Amino acid sequence: MSEGKRVGVVGAGMGGIAAAALMQRAGFDVVLYDQAPSFMRLGAGIQFGPNVMKILRRLDLEAPLEAVSCLPDYWTSRNWDDGAILANIPLNAERERYKAAYITIHRGDLQQTMLNAVDPARVQFGKQLTRFEDNGKTVRLDFADGTSDTVDILVAADGINSRIREQIFGLDAAVYTGWVAHRAIIPGAAAKAVGADVNAKWWSADRHIVCYYLDRNEDEFYLVTGEPDEWTSASGQLPSTREALRKSFEGYHPMVQAYIDATTEVTKWPLKTRNPLPHWHQGRVVLLGDACHPMKPHMAQGAAMAVEDAAVLTRCLAELGTQDLERSFRTYFACRKDRATKVQRISNANTWLRQPEDPFWCYGDDVYQMDLRAVEAT
Ligand code: FAD
Repeated sequence: MSEGKRVGVVGAGMGGIAAAALMQRAGFDVVLYDQAPSFMRLGAGIQFGPNVMKILRRLDLEAPLEAVSCLPDYWTSRNWDDGAILANIPLNAERERYKAAYITIHRGDLQQTMLNAVDPARVQFGKQLTRFEDNGKTVRLDFADGTSDTVDILVAADGINSRIREQIFGLDAAVYTGWVAHRAIIPGAAAKAVGADVNAKWWSADRHIVCYYLDRNEDEFYLVTGEPDEWTSASGQLPSTREALRKSFEGYHPMVQAYIDATTEVTKWPLKTRNPLPHWHQGRVVLLGDACHPMKPHMAQGAAMAVEDAAVLTRCLAELGTQDLERSFRTYFACRKDRATKVQRISNANTWLRQPEDPFWCYGDDVYQMDLRAVEAT
């Protein structure tokens, strides 16, 4: 092995896939492991801003993603009962300014398209990491199926309940925020029949519902909420009902009621977070995405931050090298901590784009413009 170039990425969510693909292109020998038995198409939507699309461009994913996703010109914030417009924020209407598109897409389509950028021979499903051992030179990975592997660098992209974070920082349950998200997909035609913004968030004092198309043909329309509720289950998601959704959004505008009437399958998710960590690495092991900074999803930037982490981490390892990992990982943390923590704070506060504001600091960012050595020197 390897000159320090064999990397194990644990977790094939958006952050892990991006890390594996970008590191492969940078010349690293990468294996991507996930505990799932195979790729699973989760029934949900996701928004990716220009800040992420500029990274995915480097993986030649921009054109294939734009071909299948919806490209909203505006983000519209509406008042819950009378539908009054609170804010109308240009997205693709200002594409030249952001230097990339803003897309909304089915999560399964996004994940599968991103996975196509990773060498399939280097992706291993059915590999649940149970523990690792870092001997200072290599890292041994033990999996639940009794197999093990040895790598030079371990990247923890294993999400909010990261086993790797737990082994480094100790067992510490994620914090339930007191909020849940209902999710449902309805036919695009049903949304069109009542009238629909391409991408809107309807706000009342203590809850909201976000509604957008998932595809270029506007065949599917996605509803995702944020609302206070109890959560006692150990499960990460539960089936819910149209009636429960109706009750939560009683009194909302007739357009929202009509969307809810068109739902068939409704699920409910607990929204969890964690306090910021003091560092994101230890020895030859480094964390990214929800493994180190999970957040409530109200800026639609959680996966975006995971992909940005992956890009900056790849840059640090490629440009600063793997001989002095402490230096490369410290620079990665210094580059990412303030931005990820800011996004985490605003997301958790659920204030993003409720009123007119300029989101350029977030969407206009390009991680490839960052001067790593200048950050390192500060
Ligand atoms: P994950 O996506 O959680 O992936 C972790 C992976 O690790 C999983 O595949 C899992 O199977 C695997 N894994 C876990 N443990 C192990 C183990 N021990 N061994 C092997 N594999 C393991 N973000 C956006 O950018 N835009 C949005 O529009 C958006 N909307 C959201 C809406 C909702 C309702 C929610 C809840 C979140 C939303 N997010 C959004 C946030 C986003 O989903 C997360 O921030 C993102 O998925 C984190 O990516 P990740 O790669 O860090 O982790």
